[in-house]
This record gives sequence, C-alpha cells and structure tokens, in this order.
Amino acid sequence: MTKTAQSFLTHLECSYCGRREDAQRLQTICPACGKVLFARYDLDAAREAVSRDALAAREASMWRYREVMPVADPRHIISLGEGMTPLLPAQRLGKELGCTQLYVKEEGLNPTGTFKARGLSAAVSRAVELGATSLAIPSAGNAGGALAAYGARAGLPTYVFMPEDAPESTKAECALYGARLYLVKGLINDAGKIVREGTARRGWFDVSTLKEPYRAEGKKTMGYELAEQLGWELPDAILYPTGGGTGIVGMWKAFDEMERLGWIGPKRPKMISVQAEGCAPIVRAFDQGERHAPAWEGAQSVAGGIRVPVAIGDYLILDAVRQSGGTALTVSDDALLGDMRVLARAEGISAAPEGAATLSGLRRLLDEGFLRKDERIVLFNTGSALKYQDLYVQRDFPVLDPNDPAVQDQIAA
Ligand SMILES: *Cc1c(COP(=O)(O)O)cnc(C)c1O
Ligand SMILES: [Zn+2]
Repeated sequence: MTKTAQSFLTHLECSYCGRREDAQRLQTICPACGKVLFARYDLDAAREAVSRDALAAREASMWRYREVMPVADPRHIISLGEGMTPLLPAQRLGKELGCTQLYVKEEGLNPTGTFKARGLSAAVSRAVELGATSLAIPSAGNAGGALAAYGARAGLPTYVFMPEDAPESTKAECALYGARLYLVKGLINDAGKIVREGTARRGWFDVSTLKEPYRAEGKKTMGYELAEQLGWELPDAILYPTGGGTGIVGMWKAFDEMERLGWIGPKRPKMISVQAEGCAPIVRAFDQGERHAPAWEGAQSVAGGIRVPVAIGDYLILDAVRQSGGTALTVSDDALLGDMRVLARAEGISAAPEGAATLSGLRRLLDEGFLRKDERIVLFNTGSALKYQDLYVQRDFPVLDPNDPAVQDQIAA
C-alpha cells in the first residue's frame, strides 16, 4: 500500500482546563483535572491540503476525512467499512407529523449494527498505532460488541464488561468475536469501576467513552457526513439520544473544525439531547442551569445505550446544547417502544429503542412549538432494532402445512 497524505493531528488538549498533552503516546483523561482530552489538528495546513470537493472521490467510509482523523499511517487503520451511512428522507412519517424536511441518519447500517462502530474503529486504530496490546471496555452492550469486532480485526485481545441484563445479542456477538465477556451486577458505571482496577493491575488499555481521546474522533464523522450529505449546509435541528454523549460532543467539535477548514459557515443546528425518563442526568442539569450532572440514582430504561447514570463529558454535552440554542428532554419507555414500531411501519426503518426515542422527543417539541414543521430536522437512529429482539420478538405466528388441503381456509381474508 502506498502511503497517502494522512493526519494533521498535532496534540491533545484538555477540553476543561486547556492543558496540552502529547498525542504520540497512549493517553486517557487529563492528568491535571481528570476531564476529557480532545484531539487537535493543524487545520490551517489541512485546509491547504484538501478541499471539500476532493472528498467525493474517496472511499465510502468515515476514513474519507483522514486529514482530521488521528491515524498517521494508513496501514494502522482498523476498518470494517464504518460510516457514510444513509441520510434517509422520512416523507411518510414527515407527512404524519406535518414536517416537510424530516430525515433519519441511519446508523444501524454500521458494522455490528450501531454507530459504536465509528468510535471503536477510531479508538482501536489509534491504540494499535500507539502500541496497545490489550483493550478493555465497560459497555451497556453495543460498544462491547463493537470493541470485540475491531479487536478481532486488529488481532488484539479484548475484555468486555456489561450489565448482566444487557441485550442477549450483544453478549452473543462478544462471544462470537472471541472477546472475554464478563457480566456485572449493576450498570455501566459499575462496570467502569472494574475496568479501572483491571487497567492498573493487568495493563489493559481502557477505551471507555470520552476517557480516551479517539472514540469521539470516530463519532464526530457523523457531523462531517451530515454536512457533506446536505450539500455543506447543516440542518436546523439534530435530535440525539444521549448516553455518554460522545456523538453530540463529537459532532459539535466537527462543526467547529469544518468552519475552520472553510467547508461550512457559522450556522449551527439546534442540538437536542433526548434521554429516558428513568435516567436523565443531562436533562435535569439542563433544567437546573448547571454545567455538571450528578449521577442519576436508580437508573432504568429499556434503551440501554442511554441508561448511563453519569457522563464524564457532561459539561461538553451541556455546552453544546446551550450554545446551539437547543434543548434537552425526556421521553417515556412506552413512548419510545411505540415509536420503534412507527419507524418500522411508516418508513421501513429498523430503529433501536434509543433511536426511536428521538421521534418521541420530536413529537413533544413540535407540540410545544420548540421546533417548527418547516425546519430541516435530523433524527439519529443510532442502531438497528435487530440488536434488541428481546424487546419485540413475537413467536405466536400461525404455522401452515402446504400439504394440508385446508391451508387456504386458515389464512385470514
Ligand atoms: C451508546 C448508544 C447511545 C448513546 O450514545 P452516546 O454518544 O454515548 O451518547 C445511543 N444509542 C445507542 C444504540 C447506543 O448504543
Ligand atoms: Zn484538564
């Protein structure tokens, strides 16, 4: 493989205290304040090196944005074809709601069936480049499955820790990919404690959400893609099911980078954070005007990806929501389960419960007049319903014997 012009990564910078860190070795959180490190690039040089029009001829994966991705040597990219997911116009659903420009970003088409593939492709690639030899993750399910897959592709052992009630599909995929899977009595943050101790004792590299700098770089590509797919004009509103917040934080970062690259103007979408009624630390902090979100006690929701009681990037999520003129709101499990079916039946879209929550959120925001029906609105379907068969599989279908002469009579008219 010939070595093509690659990353303009220069250093890491703490998103909280501004401390500068070396990007050429494995890093986790800011050593000074314990908050989130961001990857920084020489965007002026990148602006000279690549025009947005040149992207069109590149591969249909998130690695098409390689100048603003962290991997220096293309041979280190661990890819399964993640990204460049469709931005589907939702016309039938739009009509039902009265919306004239409604879209669904269909992240369920990623490898392993969720957008976690983006983050883990970026994090595993960079970890390989910097010499990590084993990887560990606390996960509600989907991130674990994605780490298992990308770890296998990289040839590295992976250790996944998920709540014992995580979806069966995510346990099965960890086993299939050969990860070491451990079930934890508790939630994702309880799993996180076990990983932290193992990291110290066993030398794993911990790829927890926003506790290493590169998962956010993978997820930010959703922002680049939205701009590219909409002709370099961002939508008016983005509804995003928020757990650890990597996606919302990553996209918000991407918008600033793109403006500095000269690819978009100053217009920003309203960033709207949707959480479950049973676990809404970000919504509570938003309503109370706080920049930090204390842990949510007794977290509960069928949408495991957003059943995240505490987020290290709380201030980044809340800043993006506020600076964009967005909002944060909760929806009930009943509402999001209903909207899984609506997305499936009205649009043929296989939505994860987290993705469906954005539709439930949209209904409320239209009712309350926060969003107008003529605005360009993007819902993020962050995963495929196929990963959540525990929630909706029906088994009592009629069985027909083709040799039975009465079979036609058994079919309802
Ligand atoms: C992890 C996850 C989320 C939450 O994503 P963050 O970017 O961490 O907020 C939403 N939906 C699904 C399906 C997930 O797996
Ligand atoms: Zn810091």
